[in-house]
Amino acid sequence: MTRQSTQSSPVLELRNVTKTYKVKQGLFGKARPLTAVNDVSLSLPRGEVLGLVGESGCGKSTLAKILLGLEAPTHGQVLVDGEEIGAQDRLSLARRIQPIFQDPYSSLNPRKSIFDIVSLPLRVHGVGGPQDWEKQVREILDIVGLPARVMNTYPSQMSGGQRQRVAIARALIMKPEIVICDEPTSALDVSVQSQILNLLGDLRREFGLTYLFISHDLAVVEHLATRVAVMYLGRIVEEADVAGLFDHARHPYTQALLKSVLTPEPGLGVPDTQLGMAYPNPIDPPSGCQFHPRCPLATAHCKAKAPRPVPTPQGLVECHLYDTESPMFDNKAA
Ligand code: SF4
Repeated sequence: MTRQSTQSSPVLELRNVTKTYKVKQGLFGKARPLTAVNDVSLSLPRGEVLGLVGESGCGKSTLAKILLGLEAPTHGQVLVDGEEIGAQDRLSLARRIQPIFQDPYSSLNPRKSIFDIVSLPLRVHGVGGPQDWEKQVREILDIVGLPARVMNTYPSQMSGGQRQRVAIARALIMKPEIVICDEPTSALDVSVQSQILNLLGDLRREFGLTYLFISHDLAVVEHLATRVAVMYLGRIVEEADVAGLFDHARHPYTQALLKSVLTPEPGLGVPDTQLGMAYPNPIDPPSGCQFHPRCPLATAHCKAKAPRPVPTPQGLVECHLYDTESPMFDNKAA
């Protein structure tokens, strides 16, 4: 999964996607631009799992909304099987891309039975009739490891892990090509997290699914992803295959995130990146390399000039230390 992938043609492709909002500060404040996603290009071959990692507020969830057709990009294109998603109607897009969200309780209607929740996509898309729905719901519940008897229960009667299995069943009942997993395990107990991750891995292999797996936690991503993209203030600052990223992280921000994996409770909340400074305000981003106020290796050049993406053996990185045309190029680091 590189910007010039030589693998099979991508099922999902982002080309220079940017999303800017106008944000008003205070009652009489002037509206100012907030760039949540900044010129992101990614390409995901069928059957792969791209882990998208970064701290809260880095733009991961905005990107997920764009991919689900819930937000339109300000610039750039999103293509599914080579077809721009803006040209597809919401229903046909929903057949191809389905989400699994962080909190299975708030994403399931508490007043509906599990049968109603899981069969809803079949009814919305007019697939089969009532006689088929029960059979299909039974099958998909079995696939996600739930007994058929839960069909007549309600979300409040289930554990967090069971609710997330229901959310997965609902996402998969239409046999989508791509699943956007937005922090799908971060609201769950650690013991249940690994069960859900194993289930997602099994389902990918069985049904040839392609995942975009969004998380603030590199340890979770390592479990499932085949490639990883690291996001900071709306930009992809490093991208590599999983082994390459974990064995030889290049970007100082990726290195800090990897250190945070070793904190006592890596699954809880925003990781402690040990960077000593708060995440910058995206309305007022730093000059040059936007990571420079937190970077232990920053120089005056970083403050003045934004780095460009440069290729690495495993993907790409945005840092002057790896750019042969930069005065900061460090042969040893590269
Ligand atoms: Fe740090 Fe400079 Fe690299 Fe940015 S460009 S990550 S500030 S060394």
